[in-house]
Amino acid sequence: MTRYDCVLLDADGTLLDYEAGEARALARALAVIGIEPCPAHLAAYREINARVWERFERREITQREIGRERFGELLARFGIRGDPEAVGERYLEFLGEEAKLIDGAREALHALRGRVKLALVTNGLGAVQRARLARSGLDTLLDAVVISGELPIAKPDPRIFVLALERAGGVPPHRAIMVGDNLASDVLGAIQAGLASCWFNPRGEANPFPFFPTYEIRSLAELPGIVGAQGPLPRPISPAPSPRSPVPQPACGGRRRAAESAPTPADPSPDGSPRSSPPYGDGGASSWPSPCAGT
Ligand SMILES: [Mg+2]
Repeated sequence: MTRYDCVLLDADGTLLDYEAGEARALARALAVIGIEPCPAHLAAYREINARVWERFERREITQREIGRERFGELLARFGIRGDPEAVGERYLEFLGEEAKLIDGAREALHALRGRVKLALVTNGLGAVQRARLARSGLDTLLDAVVISGELPIAKPDPRIFVLALERAGGVPPHRAIMVGDNLASDVLGAIQAGLASCWFNPRGEANPFPFFPTYEIRSLAELPGIVGAQGPLPRPISPAPSPRSPVPQPACGGRRRAAESAPTPADPSPDGSPRSSPPYGDGGASSWPSPCAGT
């Protein structure tokens, strides 16, 4: 008997190392047009990309326009000649080849598989995410996959979590837990959908929001124990929770107020929406020579 019947999982920053892949994909896309990539390009891209995704989330631009918008501004900023749309298409092509797993992801899924339903809930473009899932082998471990780019909704909209539970076989929300690295999309959305939540927080960052996850973990190796599939049980709920202890869900009224007063979600996406995470991964860093050249 497990504590939950279904585990919903975020992709980027939780199972897949997005930042390293993003850096490599950008470096390769710039190299195609003869630009030697440098850290300034990546920093600028991330800043521009965050703003462009915010515009998309406000429905000011379409998903197809994201690439042209972000690469148009990036190329203009560095005085690079090139077709932004073409660069954007190459970037997505390269990004689809990036499928490095987060440490412990495969082991955690193998520990859970067959004991509970496993469903992925990710914000991003369908083709890019499906390519990365296939390349990483995650697709063979999941019972259901829900990608915002294939839908009119995205995290933290609670409807996307409900849809994932339906695709996983009709699991009721109170028997499910959402695991993700982003409080504003993964945890907030789970709370609003009536699921338990687990914040994957490998860097030990502070929670700036007025709502709380049910659990917080530093390593994915802790996940089977929380789900009850194997390993030690999580600590009991404490009235004064420590940073790594399970913490109680806010009351219903509190949840609603929390959602309304929360800062603007920094919604993660494989295709790059705003994120609070600091520097890109090790693999990406090696792709970016310094000092900046070729611009
Ligand atoms: Mg994420």
